[in-house]
Amino acid sequence: MPDVDTNDNGSVLNADVAGPAARYAGRQPALTGCPWHDVNEMLQAAGLRPTRQRMALGWLLFGKGARHLTAEMLYEEATLAKVPVSLATVYNTLNQLTDAGLLRQVSVDGTKTYFDTNVSAHHHFYLENNHELVDIPDPNLVLQKMPEVPEGYEIARVDMVVRLRKKR
Ligand SMILES: [Zn+2]
Repeated sequence: MPDVDTNDNGSVLNADVAGPAARYAGRQPALTGCPWHDVNEMLQAAGLRPTRQRMALGWLLFGKGARHLTAEMLYEEATLAKVPVSLATVYNTLNQLTDAGLLRQVSVDGTKTYFDTNVSAHHHFYLENNHELVDIPDPNLVLQKMPEVPEGYEIARVDMVVRLRKKR
């Protein structure tokens, strides 16, 4: 029987090459560029049920490229788009998406938290005059000297926010 693959190891290896992340981690969404389909994929891959509200908010969030939004900003967009959600639901959803790794939180003041749809490592300018968060294009920005970390801890991430104001 020449066409039958009798080598089990061989076929497993081939399946591995075809898509190891999708097969084993179950976290690699198959994105197509269609926002509705992609949001559905992202939610499922992150283990979140694609409820109507999550789909609608995800569509508003991720359908327009990389952006930085507060809960209030998203709530306003949802209201304009006639998505029936409460501000509390918007907060909950944003936190769930953050916990699932689909969003990154950036705190600017104690009172202002932005949610970033770009979860890759990058830093931000904060424009104080318009309360706007902008990506710093240079990904290689580094601290000259990292602080000493207490025993038993390691640095998880460094978030740099460079605050800008208009020159007088
Ligand atoms: Zn950003």
